[in-house]
Amino acid sequence: MPREHAIKLLIDGVWVEGDGDSISVVDKYSGQPIGLIQSASTAQVDAAVSAARRSFESIKLEPHERYRLLMRVADLIEANRDALAELIISESGVPWKDSNNEVGRAAETFRLSAEEARRLVGEMVPIQGAAGQSHRMAFTIRVPRGVVGGISSFNSPLNMVAHKVAPALAAGNSVVFKPPAATPLSATRLFELMLEAGVPPTHINLVHGEGRGVGQQLVDHEGIDFFTFTGSTPVGKLIRQSRGLRPVALELGSIAATIVCADADLDRAALRCAQSGFRRQGQACTSTQRLFVQREILETFTAKLMSEVASLVVGDPRDHHTDVGPMISEKDAARAEAWVQEAVAQGATLLAGGVRTGSVLPPTVLTDVTPGMRVLCEEIFAPVLSIIPFDTLDEAIDRVNATEFGLAAGLFTRDIQRALEGAARLHVGVVHLNDASSSRVDLIPFAGVKESGVGVEGPKYAIREMTEERLVTVTL
Ligand code: NAD
Repeated sequence: MPREHAIKLLIDGVWVEGDGDSISVVDKYSGQPIGLIQSASTAQVDAAVSAARRSFESIKLEPHERYRLLMRVADLIEANRDALAELIISESGVPWKDSNNEVGRAAETFRLSAEEARRLVGEMVPIQGAAGQSHRMAFTIRVPRGVVGGISSFNSPLNMVAHKVAPALAAGNSVVFKPPAATPLSATRLFELMLEAGVPPTHINLVHGEGRGVGQQLVDHEGIDFFTFTGSTPVGKLIRQSRGLRPVALELGSIAATIVCADADLDRAALRCAQSGFRRQGQACTSTQRLFVQREILETFTAKLMSEVASLVVGDPRDHHTDVGPMISEKDAARAEAWVQEAVAQGATLLAGGVRTGSVLPPTVLTDVTPGMRVLCEEIFAPVLSIIPFDTLDEAIDRVNATEFGLAAGLFTRDIQRALEGAARLHVGVVHLNDASSSRVDLIPFAGVKESGVGVEGPKYAIREMTEERLVTVTL
């Protein structure tokens, strides 16, 4: 039985109780309480932002010091691997296979950020190329933005926090961070490890609470210079509105698609599509929700996919064999189940799953879907995948592009020319050729287009966002 954690705030270098409302955190499989958040009050959010500002102005860490600290955090993450994996499993329901993997990825995110801290460069600007400028030189430097505010979503409760905090520190900023109320434990433990590594305590402020209260206050706060957010598109739009001209990076929602052409390696495609649709319970922004299959292989490929789906182990996320665990809440599982029932009532055929037990919805496959169905036009964020036949690649690409989102897509074909044409035409931030839509590694630039986001993640690229590029001219 997991022990119950007291979930405190880290403000100005001190762990304090929140003065706001209490929120219970539960184990997503057993439903047992595992922690109690005392949310930050308005005054505490203000205090966290002021502390981050003072810290930014008074403590200047050299790039080599940032490198050393962030590498030490990475080592501590590795050293606490099992305990961190258990926290992720418990608070998010992500099964052990993926939770254990997430811990390693979080360490990697810190190492990548550490390395980039030592490579923060501007560029020489050839000002002497302009007439009358031969007595001048020019170059750019990268300077930290100041106080970085961060808010994350529930589905990757450790590595997503790492993707925001590590680049912010690598760039020389201070931080105020709020994790989701459903999954605050991994983030809190990460902040403890950062303190243990020697990160200046006042540089990393952590507040807890609901999005509409504490989150909204942070977003609206004048004392924050840059905001980095991962979550749903509707909340992203609110943040964009609130922040106005101040810079933001918003990693938002999607209805990701994968295309399987008739000439593809069908065994590999079936395996990767099953993983992409259902691992992490389909609760990843890049999970394949729409699977376009060329009509001539529809029957063969569907059989292969269904065999992969049947081999997925569903249930207890602590079992090391489990592939699909509980969703983040029973309410979300019920919503996804209702969308599936609605699709079936509108003429879709259910090939697998569709009926939940509590918050566990087994891998669910639909076919005979039509464009207006909710399972095709809204982000379901659940282990539900719809198979859609197509005749030509052009047609499939047009249909992939026909949403307001544009995060990631997969395309399986052995024809290199078609693959590259597809990469050029798929209107998304990330295209995986001969892989499914969800195959992120931490060093890649990761960004959505259209309503899937603005700004780029991935340590090297996030650090660019989290610094200002300043032009300097020198008159000789
Ligand atoms: P969400 O938008 O409901 O919540 C995300 C965070 O925002 C939480 O911490 C929440 O407390 C906070 N929040 C909610 N309302 C707020 C407000 N008005 N002001 C400030 N903060 C607020 O999203 P979720 O359900 O936690 O996560 C699922 C969504 O995240 C999906 O849409 C998914 O696609 C997206 N996501 C995107 C990426 C990406 O990289 N593009 C990665 C993971 C998840």
